[in-house]
Amino acid sequence: MELSSTLQEEFDIVVRRNPGEAEFHQAVREVLESLAPVIDKHPEYVESGIIPRVCEPNRQIIFKVNWQDDRGRVHTNRGFRVQFNSALGPYKGGLRFHPSVYLGIIKFLGFEQIFKNALTGMPIGGGKGGSDFDPKGRSDNEIMRFCQSFMTELSGHIGADVDVPAGDIGVGGREIGYLFGQYKKLTGRYESGVLTGKAIGIGGSRARTEATGYGTVYFANEMLKLSGESFDGKKVVVSGSGNVATYAVEKVNQLGGTVVAMSDSAGYIVDESGLDFEQIRELKEVRRGRISEYVDANPSARFIADGSIWDVPCAIALPCATQNELNIGGARALIKNGCTLVAEGANMPSTPDAIRAFTSNGVRFAPGKAANAGGVATSALEMQQNASRDSWSFDHTEARLHEIMVGIHARCYETAEEYGTPGDYVMGANIASFLRVADAMMALGVI
Ligand code: NDP
Repeated sequence: MELSSTLQEEFDIVVRRNPGEAEFHQAVREVLESLAPVIDKHPEYVESGIIPRVCEPNRQIIFKVNWQDDRGRVHTNRGFRVQFNSALGPYKGGLRFHPSVYLGIIKFLGFEQIFKNALTGMPIGGGKGGSDFDPKGRSDNEIMRFCQSFMTELSGHIGADVDVPAGDIGVGGREIGYLFGQYKKLTGRYESGVLTGKAIGIGGSRARTEATGYGTVYFANEMLKLSGESFDGKKVVVSGSGNVATYAVEKVNQLGGTVVAMSDSAGYIVDESGLDFEQIRELKEVRRGRISEYVDANPSARFIADGSIWDVPCAIALPCATQNELNIGGARALIKNGCTLVAEGANMPSTPDAIRAFTSNGVRFAPGKAANAGGVATSALEMQQNASRDSWSFDHTEARLHEIMVGIHARCYETAEEYGTPGDYVMGANIASFLRVADAMMALGVI
């Protein structure tokens, strides 16, 4: 999509100032493409420099992480924390441990996080962090030593009212526990609200593990309801097999859908009779195995190493693995096979041309910043519980999550209508969230 001259100028500056950060450019462009009607209506945002200010992180921290493996060998990784925008509250966003991590990935995720967090309606700013450390194949002790070294540097920059990290790819409950333990040791304080995604016994929230996957399915369910449909009887493809994907599968099953395929970076499994959630959970969470191992105990399932999961026919696709995993080829295959709805559990999994293909072929499309906001929303509920030294039941927390996702859907849907693009959830999500952030920045003055 073409940008207006004002927005194009802003975008050119972002590209010039952040060379080589393709994912960050992609994320910024996607938001700017929605903003023409907003700046027409609110020229004061341009006059106050809101766009360049929101595209520049408040602070970018890059640090060295030395650690020793089980054989005593020393490794040096790079750690990042990008504190992007705190107009609405303390910086909030996950940590990603994956070899593909570099500053551009963390900045794209941090930028998305500003708007996602705004959509939840909760008092949280946007940030993101991580490392190029590869946790695959590492022992528990190696993971612990890495987390301790990472936190030794990070601890000086975070706090319950400052910046509250959580998990993302490669960072789950185990890693958050080690990070929290080291923070506690370094500061001498049991500051529960400094990290979210903790285990229940150390101040975590019930339903946080499930929240992103459940939330994505709740969002998709709201979209289906508008045309009198539901998940019942529908075939669903879920990419990835990590935290988000696993609990998306559980919620799809609970709502009567059948998940026929899942994946990891080595390939995908397919089973027309439906994948078994409990087996997937046990394989991935307890045994920390690969998705290919599922077929060992399930003769009706097949593992395909050299193909695309998007070739599997389905009515609903939930990309839940990683950025740019669903390209134009995948989009065309989904459309050809009759897919009518795509909701992103991952961050920016669909490429821009894939999104265009969906919208021009009548496929309903929910962007990650709206559809996967249930994870961070439940993290904010964890912060509330920590602040009041309370611990809510699973049912109560899940009910709050559901209510929040219904609210985010309504906000996106209504904003898209108001701005003349009915049914366009990308426009709705970007505009509704930008307005909330921009108004807070205006209220705070030029700081
Ligand atoms: P996990 O680490 O638990 O799982 C990631 C999954 O994605 C794994 O199956 C992994 O396969 C696969 N994957 C990762 N990189 C690639 C790649 N380059 N190609 C193919 N598959 C890949 O992460 P999460 O489930 O937590 O996160 C998944 C997505 O959801 C990410 O985009 C994340 O940013 C987003 N998200 C997560 C939230 C959360 O609460 N956890 C909240 C909101 C968004 P393999 O094991 O082979 O690497």
